[in-house]
Amino acid sequence: MFAVCTVLHWIDEELQRLATQGLLRSRRIRTGPQGTVCNIDGKPVINFGSNDYLGLAGDPRLAAAARAALRREGTGSGASPLVSGYSRYHRLLERRLAAFEATEAALVCVSGYAANVGTVAALVGPGDLVISDAHNHASLLDGCRLSRADFRVYPHCDMEALERLLRRSDRYRRCLIVTDTLFSMDGDFAPLPELAHLADRYQAMLLVDEAHATGVLGQDGRGLVEFFGLEDRVAVRIGTLSKALGCVGGFVVGSKSLVDWLVNRARPYIFSTAMPPPVAAAAAAAISIVRSEPQRRRHLLQQADLLRQQLSRMGWNIGRSASHIIPLVVGAPHRATVLAAQLLRRGVFVPPIRPPAVPEGQSCLRISLTAAHSDDHVAQLIDALAAAG
Ligand SMILES: *Cc1c(COP(=O)(O)O)cnc(C)c1O
Repeated sequence: MFAVCTVLHWIDEELQRLATQGLLRSRRIRTGPQGTVCNIDGKPVINFGSNDYLGLAGDPRLAAAARAALRREGTGSGASPLVSGYSRYHRLLERRLAAFEATEAALVCVSGYAANVGTVAALVGPGDLVISDAHNHASLLDGCRLSRADFRVYPHCDMEALERLLRRSDRYRRCLIVTDTLFSMDGDFAPLPELAHLADRYQAMLLVDEAHATGVLGQDGRGLVEFFGLEDRVAVRIGTLSKALGCVGGFVVGSKSLVDWLVNRARPYIFSTAMPPPVAAAAAAAISIVRSEPQRRRHLLQQADLLRQQLSRMGWNIGRSASHIIPLVVGAPHRATVLAAQLLRRGVFVPPIRPPAVPEGQSCLRISLTAAHSDDHVAQLIDALAAAG
């Protein structure tokens, strides 16, 4: 018998409410590696709901690196990196990240979420101002709230609204602007040259989150800051090991003093156990592959260009997407779930995205294209969409 806890009855009512609004989430069991064909709830499907953009999550070279570290150090790190959790694999990964990103230093956190929350809250506090794009990832928004700095939001990519906020920033001690570079639901680019210009002009710090761009965009795969040639103008760059790098974890790259400060002040870094050494070893291997196999990102971006053109021609609303993240905007949450179910019956998995992950009226199916999808996979997606129409 489970204990009956009447003080939690309100939860059942709230869950019922979510269900009537079409907003209730549940989980499906996936088996098999990410990226292309996997089993969802026992049924084989082509997976367009994975952020394994370069097809590295199931790469045997990552698994081999993880196995070697596993044999030497086991699964757990045992403690915070500040106590005894920081291993040679963490150091190797940080050095490789700094070399890859061409920065003085790098810091590895247990997740991109932790990297964002910890870094924002370490850079600003009471008496400071933090300004965010309305479509930024939840982890950046949570970092802004947690910092206890004055928190302002500008409409998505609206540089005039940002400048209006900056004009009133001189009464604060410090000012921080935070933005995704490649927006996770829209698949569009932040106007980084304008952001860098405004940050300079108003003496603000600029923090960018490259979660969906690392490994994919830029000549060498460093992301959108590299793509725009702004590496010397953006003080704080954050990325994740969880998407194109095929592992899990987050990182911050920048100056050595930035990293030293975060080691001393970023609470999610200080108060969480270090990531398992095998994960750090696998991520280090992934970075080497990103450097040595640029054809993966080139192929992905070419496929994405073709798919966007095709979807637009078919009349789908893909919003402002300019990348491998392609939303099919359908409006109401129910329409997104119905369309997703129709595609699933045809063996194609595309996750429906509903509020609060997107604004009201902007529910969509979010296509994540990866370098591992073949022309045939994409053709099956198009066919299924045409049939569901
Ligand atoms: C996924 C994501 C994160 C979080 O990264 P995790 O490593 O999965 O915690 C942060 N920012 C953005 C924009 C993301 O899409």
